[in-house]
Amino acid sequence: MGIASINPTTGEKLQVFAALTDEAIAAKIALAQQTFADYRQTSFEQRSQWLQAAAEALEQRQDHLGRLMTLEMGKPLKSAIAEVKKCAWVCRFYAENAATFLADESAETDASQSYVRYLPLGIVLAVMPWNFPFWQVFRFAAPALMAGNVGLLKHASNVPQCALAIEEIFQQAGFPAGAFQTLLIGADQVEAIVKDARVKAATLTGSEAAGASLASIAGAEIKKTVLELGGSDPFIVLPSADIDTAVETAVTARMLNNGQSCIAAKRFIVHTAIADEFTAQLIEKFRALKTGDPLADDTDLGPLATPAILHDIDQQVQACVQAGAKALVGGDIAALQAQLPDSLKKGNFYPATLLSQIPPHTPAAEEEFFGPVALLFCVDNLDAAIELANSTPLGLGASAWTQDEAERDRLINELEAGAVFINGLVKSDPRLPFGGIKRSGYGRELGHHGIQEFVNIKTVWVK
Ligand code: NAP
Repeated sequence: MGIASINPTTGEKLQVFAALTDEAIAAKIALAQQTFADYRQTSFEQRSQWLQAAAEALEQRQDHLGRLMTLEMGKPLKSAIAEVKKCAWVCRFYAENAATFLADESAETDASQSYVRYLPLGIVLAVMPWNFPFWQVFRFAAPALMAGNVGLLKHASNVPQCALAIEEIFQQAGFPAGAFQTLLIGADQVEAIVKDARVKAATLTGSEAAGASLASIAGAEIKKTVLELGGSDPFIVLPSADIDTAVETAVTARMLNNGQSCIAAKRFIVHTAIADEFTAQLIEKFRALKTGDPLADDTDLGPLATPAILHDIDQQVQACVQAGAKALVGGDIAALQAQLPDSLKKGNFYPATLLSQIPPHTPAAEEEFFGPVALLFCVDNLDAAIELANSTPLGLGASAWTQDEAERDRLINELEAGAVFINGLVKSDPRLPFGGIKRSGYGRELGHHGIQEFVNIKTVWVK
């Protein structure tokens, strides 16, 4: 379909865009490079003022921007507005803290003076996904711009209006025109940009295939990359857990963003001692979720972002069911369709689904389920829980529920993930680093680690 806004709730085509020509891309890279020469000399104070202005612009337009997201990719409007507010938070966080994070660090050596200075690299390319169309971009852009880099954004092809709105926010905030530019381009146009000598580094949030492709091109060019890829996060519930809170969090953790979040809890690994109680409560809560128009206030679950995602999740569920898994809730698109009003029948709706008794060697063992489908597994002890949690190739986040300190220590140390949350929902927070291990990627965003990814960590030695 190329670069197009298509409302996933109705199937209506909102706007189609032509991809930039090679000449147009060249002009934007030239502007970025030219801007960098001056922009790198600006003070933290100046960059901070611009970023604070971006935060204000976001907040002033939060309803409009939230609606744009909902129309392009289907997330419930209230979450979309919350996402805009979170972007304002990350802007303010780096506006206030970047100078400290990137201050010179002295070290005593045989020199009269030796220290580390953090300097910008230049143009950084960001390839971003549609699922959090604002947040993914701002969590890259806020630290990158504060560090003195300039950004080029290749956003997902189904959220072009969000991509243009983000560029506009930075322009309105006062950043120089070439500091942050959106490139409306297809994935096939990324390679030439990564190979351009003026582009110094790249970050990609998205699928493993896209990450591997970008990183191999950048690797051949000896360019730094950060990869934020998929997750199949475990949500482990042990007998000492507060079951009511765990169930409530489990629903949010799985259904947030219509089930399309990298750090959504996807595999629920529950101790047999509390499995019946946990499962009964989860079934009840999944059944109570309201699926419908994401612009409506009372909607819990909107449509999936594209027909392809709907098709993929349905195939994954069917494969599990054919192998012997049981759908305790959902799993049946036709049944959901029959309940939807005519105005939503062309939307990409998938029902809240809970699969149990899942045999090994199904997609549930290896693949990410990017939709509102929870995979339930029962285990007899902590060893089995940790072994199952670690049995996928992915390692993004993990949530574990227990009041037992010894269990907690083991979970923190042994879960193969970039983040472990005990008795809570895995979430990103500007104050904490975010990223994965294994096939979930490498590098970190957010916190002070995030701003130090795209800088020259320069050693200075003076006799
Ligand atoms: P995707 O297909 O990989 O798309 C992500 C971005 O990469 C889009 O801009 C896409 O452009 C581009 N792209 C695709 N193939 C490419 C290639 N070969 N070379 C360069 N760019 C390429 O991912 P998605 O399915 O939209 O997003 C969902 C995935 O992202 C899930 O796996 C999810 O877990 C992951 N994710 C990870 C995080 C994290 O922080 N770890 C956060 C959010 C999402 P087009 O749209 O033009 O194809």
